[in-house]
Amino acid sequence: MKRSIYSLTFDQLQEWLIEHGQKKFRAKQVWNWLYKKRVNTFAEMYNLNKDCQLVLKENFYLGTLEQEIKQESKDGTIKFLFKLSDGNLIETVLMKFSYGYSVCVTTQVGCNIGCSFCASGLLTKNRDLSAGEIVEQIMNVQKHLDTKGKEERVSHIVVMGIGEPFDNYDNMMDFLRIVNDQEGLSIGARHITVSTSGLAKRIYDFADENLQVNLALSLHAPNNELRTKIMKINKAFPLEKLMPAIDYYLEKTNRRITFEYILLKDVNDHKKEAEQLVSLLKDKRHLSYVNLIPYNPVDEHNQYDRSEKKAILDFYQVLLENGINCGVRVEHGTDIDAACGQLRSKQIKKDKEKQKA
Ligand code: SAH
Ligand code: SF4
Repeated sequence: MKRSIYSLTFDQLQEWLIEHGQKKFRAKQVWNWLYKKRVNTFAEMYNLNKDCQLVLKENFYLGTLEQEIKQESKDGTIKFLFKLSDGNLIETVLMKFSYGYSVCVTTQVGCNIGCSFCASGLLTKNRDLSAGEIVEQIMNVQKHLDTKGKEERVSHIVVMGIGEPFDNYDNMMDFLRIVNDQEGLSIGARHITVSTSGLAKRIYDFADENLQVNLALSLHAPNNELRTKIMKINKAFPLEKLMPAIDYYLEKTNRRITFEYILLKDVNDHKKEAEQLVSLLKDKRHLSYVNLIPYNPVDEHNQYDRSEKKAILDFYQVLLENGINCGVRVEHGTDIDAACGQLRSKQIKKDKEKQKA
């Protein structure tokens, strides 16, 4: 069966070429065409012999995503809605920062974790994305930047789009190896962040990978009762299982971890929770950063509101006074449905309404 050529790591492509009677060094040439010259057809890879071009063309697609919608926000954030070869829709977001361009990628079609505040969890998981489908999101965005002709490149990646990356672990790891490889896009591991809702088992695996990739944990509550209420995954991996996994990660990697904390009005934004958060993190504060995230309202989750500005500031002050590194996330593209999974769920709703009409 034909698959995306972007699914293969450099080593996998080398092996594949040898198995198909080609020379090993062709892998370097192919990757140069794919990731540096960024061609759209195998025919353009003119330094490959015809036989090699043919065997690649017979076995691989050079891209499977189709761009459905591109929305540009006033602040320059661009949201892409892509259609996969089976018709499923996914989202990718491009953000511009002072330090470069960052892309937020999707790892699954929908999400089974079902957090109570999240638009992605509204639609359960349909399937995992292949490594190639995740790489292609970056390639499509990079090709968009290429059209501007200013040699601008994707320099940072956040694995924070639709889906739970640790529920699609192997494909996500191949994706990281592919985009990080110096033969290809060469995006620095330190510029990549993977966010998880807290699949503790996989946090141990990730710590053992020996990578410089950053980890973010979606904590959102400092005690089990509250965390289970807003994230049902906390039943399977309560804090007494999660925090030892985090400690293992910190000890093994000595890398700073980001704790994400969405502030939900009158739910988890009181002084009491700020103080509990301090207690939870104080023994690891030298390697912790708390990212306070103003909640992005989702139509279907109208039980939640965004915290008041004062509540956000008070919460921040408590952390700061107790020596916890923290910041309040600056929002991007709120005028274009940039909250995780929002554009996709709206488009699916629209499509369904069209079908009914
Ligand atoms: N599944 C992973 C990664 C994708 S979600 C995870 O949960 O970590 C990426 C981040 O967006 C998470 O921290 C998630 O909690 C947050 N998020 C989801 N819905 C949001 C909303 N409506 N407003 C603000 N942040 C949201
Ligand atoms: Fe899934 Fe993350 Fe959304 Fe939770 S926040 S439903 S884990 S995508």
